[in-house]
Amino acid sequence: MGCMGVVSSGTDAASCAFTSTARSDRARLLYSRLPQVGAFLDLPAMRKLLQTAPRQLVVDATRRRVTELRSRLQASERGDDEFNADQLNAALAAMPDAIAADLEVARSPSLRRVINASGVLLQTNLGRAPLSKRALERIAAVAQGYCNLEYDLASGERGERAGAVEDLILRFLRVRLGENAALEDHAALIVNNCAAAMYLALNTLAEGGEVIVSRGELVEIGGGFRIPEILDKSGATLREVGTTNRTRVADYAAAITPATRLLLRVHRSNFRMDGFTEQPSLAELVALGERAGVPVFEDQGTGCAVALEGYGIREESNWPAAIQSGAALVTASGDKLLGGPQCGLLLGRSSYIEGMRSNPFYRAFRADKLTYAALEGTLLDYLSDELSVPVIRMLSLSAEQVGQRCKRFAAAVQTPELEAEIVPTSSVVGGGTTPGATLPSYAVALRHVSISDADLSARLRTGEPPIVTRIRDGQVLLDLRTVAEVEEPIAIAAIRQSLCEPESPGPLAHSEPG
Ligand SMILES: *Cc1c(COP(=O)(O)O)cnc(C)c1O
Repeated sequence: MGCMGVVSSGTDAASCAFTSTARSDRARLLYSRLPQVGAFLDLPAMRKLLQTAPRQLVVDATRRRVTELRSRLQASERGDDEFNADQLNAALAAMPDAIAADLEVARSPSLRRVINASGVLLQTNLGRAPLSKRALERIAAVAQGYCNLEYDLASGERGERAGAVEDLILRFLRVRLGENAALEDHAALIVNNCAAAMYLALNTLAEGGEVIVSRGELVEIGGGFRIPEILDKSGATLREVGTTNRTRVADYAAAITPATRLLLRVHRSNFRMDGFTEQPSLAELVALGERAGVPVFEDQGTGCAVALEGYGIREESNWPAAIQSGAALVTASGDKLLGGPQCGLLLGRSSYIEGMRSNPFYRAFRADKLTYAALEGTLLDYLSDELSVPVIRMLSLSAEQVGQRCKRFAAAVQTPELEAEIVPTSSVVGGGTTPGATLPSYAVALRHVSISDADLSARLRTGEPPIVTRIRDGQVLLDLRTVAEVEEPIAIAAIRQSLCEPESPGPLAHSEPG
């Protein structure tokens, strides 16, 4: 029953109807060859898989593969795809191997190391600050077994949660600020992140009262963290003063009432304001606060603990300086410019810190032992050599130093098909810090003879390990400032590998229905 006869004898419509009927008959026949999951699992190859993987994972993977074949048959029946008996047989024969590959993926970690060649030092999407060697060693040492998290080894009794790490913060402050810093009445507290630190501070010190904030600082930090909302949730009432671009000390002074609990300063860490602007210095606010008997709370945010001027970045605040200016309380993030683990630092007068420690929310926001271990390692690094903190080291590299590394790197990846040149570029700190500031840098610029820039960058991003790059003027740029030296050979191997492989869809690409 050839279609040709029908075509020669009649209309196109008849031909189509007949062809599609034949096609669906064939397809129906093929459906019957789709295996029952239970029976399929009895195949020797599948029994073997069942010995090494949880049954439910194998069942789910098998079901997905069968469903995928069914949808291909349906597509074939509709005429959208060609899927014949031979192809079905081949797919069925290959199914145990495909399922084994699926199981491999299902049992691999999804959170993976990524090589950041974007030149952006801190990206929330990429986990912000990479940890120092010492921080990693401290995590391993503390997490392997038990630890003295809340145990005083000298007395054998319950101790303050990681009290020694909080003491270390004060020691660190003392080193930064020197003899004249009056820190006798100060204490520190660690919570999960700076957002939690801020909430805890506002809730403890200002619930039921008023907090005065400049209209120029009613910001959104990112990830939906907005100052007016967090204030509202903390139970404090926001008193806005000044205007977006200009706020004076007199504006704060005029707004102070008996209900005022705090003067809040929020560091403009993720945006810049230029032109006709005015903002009192922290010291001026502190002086006002002292006259009026109202403490000043600075959300410093970036966690920067060094003078960034030394690294060529101007006008950036740091939290030791905020304490020195007399702020009664300062909050800072642990995984931005401090270069440590995600956490929030609270520093300030002991009575305030103790109030927060006994707030029930502290229990909800408290950090885990891995965080304390990593933070301690990071602070110890600052006490011996701050360049051992990766973020600080990246900041410290000159453009020439990055350029030298780019030269070696380019020579190692260059092939007749892959052109690699060195181009000047700018790194940025990012991650909600130092808005607008750039660091002169160099990048390796890749261009392939037959693979487009977008394809090449996608191949690198989906390689092992993934490499995150930037595209500029048809080239794929790798800014080595944000690539550790030990990562270079790994990145070079990953680039070579990504070019060896043909466009490969990967084991799971077909299992998406539809
Ligand atoms: C980043 C930042 C925060 C939030 O810090 P997380 O540690 O991400 O919670 C709060 N305030 C300011 C000013 C910041 O820059």
